[in-house]
Amino acid sequence: MADRLSEALQQKLSARLSFYKGIGIDLFYGDRVSIQRLSSTIDSATVPVAMRAGQFREPASGNIPSVPFEDPFEDQVEISETIAVSEIREDDLPRTPRKPVLPPAPALQIPSVPRVVLPTPKSGLFDASERISGDSMLKIRDDIGDCTRCKLHKGRNKIVFADGDPKAKLVFVGEGPGRDEDMQGLPFVGRAGKLLTQMIEAMGLQRGDVYICNVVKCRPPENRLPEPDEIKTCSPFLIRQLEVVDPKVIVALGACAAQTLLQTTRGISHFRGQWQEFRGRKLMATYHPAYLLRNPPAKADVWKDLQMVMAELGLKRGAKSTSAGKTS
Ligand code: URA
Repeated sequence: MADRLSEALQQKLSARLSFYKGIGIDLFYGDRVSIQRLSSTIDSATVPVAMRAGQFREPASGNIPSVPFEDPFEDQVEISETIAVSEIREDDLPRTPRKPVLPPAPALQIPSVPRVVLPTPKSGLFDASERISGDSMLKIRDDIGDCTRCKLHKGRNKIVFADGDPKAKLVFVGEGPGRDEDMQGLPFVGRAGKLLTQMIEAMGLQRGDVYICNVVKCRPPENRLPEPDEIKTCSPFLIRQLEVVDPKVIVALGACAAQTLLQTTRGISHFRGQWQEFRGRKLMATYHPAYLLRNPPAKADVWKDLQMVMAELGLKRGAKSTSAGKTS
């Protein structure tokens, strides 16, 4: 069983992580010692790739600015306090205070970040999933069958195909099923899923208005990150799903979904909050809800990203609609 960090150390780490976010360099750079300390309590499945690769660097001590934060999803349903971190992949995480009190510090000049446009790959992962004429959700599900193509099938209970409206204008793509999803056969039904539902409602939509799916359709053991061979095997089905839904906007939740769809190994912090393109459609990469459960201040960034999506789709916050997410 992993050692747990002391409360004081958890708060210090939380404050530092918020600091990185506040100055825009984010969580994605750090030293191995920090990573090891963190990874004794944070499941590697939820730690960004570059962070696990040990690229994280600690700032000089002190000088941590306070980061004002208002929870954009707070007034929806009860969330972060009760959600905390007990989704399986968060089981070993320290509880993050909802509104961390950070030490005061001098104001920082934050340089503006140039827009990053990732090249559209000419070949690679999706060669095998060019548009299939007459494709349909039924056919994709049928083709998946009782899949044994990769090793994930050995530990799964149910294949998690998708949820929501297959004609939606907006699609959310996650990483892979967790425990609750594996039990129910539906994506995003655990604690991270509840937060996703609240995010969707904050956008003025209902969960049934959007389409929700994952990069891999079977639960990785211990909720670890899906491995490259598993992603390579399973993602052609995701691509077919996206082609059939043909949404106006895709939101990639977390590094796994973003890196898979954009075919990049760059950290998500380099391109979140900026429109990207996926096969002629707009793609917004943002943080995974499971990450927000342990770092609530990052909800402010996600809310900014979702507001860009709302503007693109002509949505208004809290405007309850059951049709806004659908294609005509
Ligand atoms: N996390 C994901 O990425 N997908 C799910 O379906 C649930 C949690």
